[in-house]
Amino acid sequence: MKNTNKTFSYEDKTVVVTGANRGLGLGCVAELLNLGFRVVACARNPTSIKSDLEAQKISTKNLITQKLDVASEESLKSFEVFLKSEIKTCHVLINNAGIYVDDPKGGALSTSGADFLKTMMTNVYGPYRMSQIVLPLMKSQKFGRIVNVSSGMGQLSEMGAGYPAYRISKTAVNSLSKNLGVETHGTNILVNSVCPGWVKTDMGGKGAQREIPEGVKSILWAALLADDGPTGGYFRDGKSMSW
Ligand code: NAP
Repeated sequence: MKNTNKTFSYEDKTVVVTGANRGLGLGCVAELLNLGFRVVACARNPTSIKSDLEAQKISTKNLITQKLDVASEESLKSFEVFLKSEIKTCHVLINNAGIYVDDPKGGALSTSGADFLKTMMTNVYGPYRMSQIVLPLMKSQKFGRIVNVSSGMGQLSEMGAGYPAYRISKTAVNSLSKNLGVETHGTNILVNSVCPGWVKTDMGGKGAQREIPEGVKSILWAALLADDGPTGGYFRDGKSMSW
């Protein structure tokens, strides 16, 4: 990818990525470093991020790694202190961390209450609290992009059966994108949901249609939007999806 964005440079911008130690999150970090961003790569266990990127011959000069469990309020609070005291800025937030724990053979009410809550904490509460943490910084610098990594499985207009916790969590995170997009309209803060497609990761499995770079491209499209880009929307490969 190249910087074809005429409205802002990448070199002086900081991106925070959650769930950055594998899959699409690590793929986003790799591409963002290649583009010249400073990247704060957050994960429950961030120890392997640097060496994994170096093994791919990616320069880690602009990489910062940080421990963060998006489902833990204690961890979110420590992250907030770290971001505000050490990093002092955030231009782009990619809410990528996510779990999918429903039984594939189960029906609409098959997921246990504990798994349902865990999914909501990770896939909805995490993005909500991370947005709360970065928004004051984005408002003061009059620049921000928030990407909520969603899924076609959360699409109300195409809602299928099963996978209740995952589906409902992704519908909810779409609602967060819309709600916050309306709230920040006209402030140069753009908030969108993105479906990366069905991607070969631990979550997507080996039978998925897409390789990681294709899913990453779909996500980064919303991270790199020019100032006149859309907000409060739901996209795959830069194309609008119905809710
Ligand atoms: P993945 O390979 O399973 O990676 C999930 C990432 O989320 C891991 O880094 C994991 O970290 C992290 N994570 C889970 N719970 C966390 C928590 N409480 N705090 C912080 N990090 C946490 O899945 P993926 O395919 O890359 O998925 C990334 C995003 O894309 C998810 O939001 C997913 O719903 C979405 N998505 C994926 C597909 C697909 O086909 N792959 C399709 C549509 C949407 P640990 O290593 O600590 O577990």
